[in-house]
Amino acid sequence: MADNKKALVLGAGGFIGSHMCKRLKSEGYWVRGIDIKYPEFSDSAADEFVQGDLRDANFVNECVAFKEGGFGYESPEPVWVEPFDEIYQFAADMGGAGYIFTDEHSADIMHNSASINLNVLDAQVKLNRNLGENKTKIFYSSSACMYPEHNQLDPDNPDCRENSAYPAAPDSEYGWEKLFSERLYLAYNRNHDIPVRVARYHNIFGPEGTWQGGKEKAPAAISRKVALLPAVGGTIEVWGDGLQTRSFLYIDECIEATRRLMESDFQGPVNIGSEEMVTINQLVETAAKVAGKVVRKSYTLNAPTGVRGRNSNNDLIREKLGWDYFQTLEEGIRKTYDWISEQINSRQHGVVDLSSKETVTCER
Ligand code: NAD
Repeated sequence: MADNKKALVLGAGGFIGSHMCKRLKSEGYWVRGIDIKYPEFSDSAADEFVQGDLRDANFVNECVAFKEGGFGYESPEPVWVEPFDEIYQFAADMGGAGYIFTDEHSADIMHNSASINLNVLDAQVKLNRNLGENKTKIFYSSSACMYPEHNQLDPDNPDCRENSAYPAAPDSEYGWEKLFSERLYLAYNRNHDIPVRVARYHNIFGPEGTWQGGKEKAPAAISRKVALLPAVGGTIEVWGDGLQTRSFLYIDECIEATRRLMESDFQGPVNIGSEEMVTINQLVETAAKVAGKVVRKSYTLNAPTGVRGRNSNNDLIREKLGWDYFQTLEEGIRKTYDWISEQINSRQHGVVDLSSKETVTCER
């Protein structure tokens, strides 16, 4: 248990960040959540949720300081300021294949995410200097998208061991920014003694992830499409030939692995993912099985799909943290499918766009 510890969760309005807020609260942390938007699907578990733009360096300076009077508190009298015990940095400009691989958003992705990471580290160094201490441990969520494309051409044998990262050749600017920022966190560790932990997430999915609107990832997009089909005779569109491979990790397991990494002395970078590699066709079939529906697929061959094959390699995390995934893809898809079906049924989130496409992305 971590009674009285204070955590700052950046990107707390997003999928992984909002789940992390719940987990930290359940462990007794005091939690401040920051995001440009409030969580879409449930109330934030954070004790204090502040909406703001982490590209703004002045705002980030306020975010990293815990003040007795609350966020941004000012007074003519000296104000008691403390650093956080832990920062979880999930904020990033990201989305599915249609967002990442078309190159239309590359400049924004690189600029926005790099600015956030630069601001966070700079703000923490300044606070540490002012307070004369250096206790805040920072977690950074990198991605499997930073791995070189040339090791992921064979769908049956992708190489995503941590030490295969160089010579670097990610297939998207999103992946390059992740690689840059990994190095940034490690450089701040070496030069400013900031304790950091870096994980490379592989396709995290589950309830309360984006499931429509263009930024959703393959498990959610496919679950939604299948949920909207009739019991027999429906067809869904799949980007590419469906033979590209990926692995998908259920959100609760991602949160557990992340917490273990933070509690350990191991800095990373380390993969956090599942080793149950499937083709996208198998992912569709899994969703169809869970739904009890017969589903036909139609392929859009010129759609963006990301690398040909990707799978997590968990040798390092097993060795260092004794962690491994345990849930089958089918179990995770069942929970996700049920949640998305409820979302559709309750129509809480506007009109469901039947024309939106599957996103089989580098994340997914
Ligand atoms: P998400 O998009 O749901 O969450 C990211 C959050 O960052 C969003 O809520 C967004 O509003 C916020 N954000 C973006 N720009 C901001 C800004 N300028 N100021 C304040 N907030 C801002 O994504 P997620 O799936 O929860 O992913 C969390 C992190 O993990 C991201 O860094 C992502 O790149 C990384 N990651 C995720 C996956 C995955 O499969 N979900 C895989 C690999 C890496």
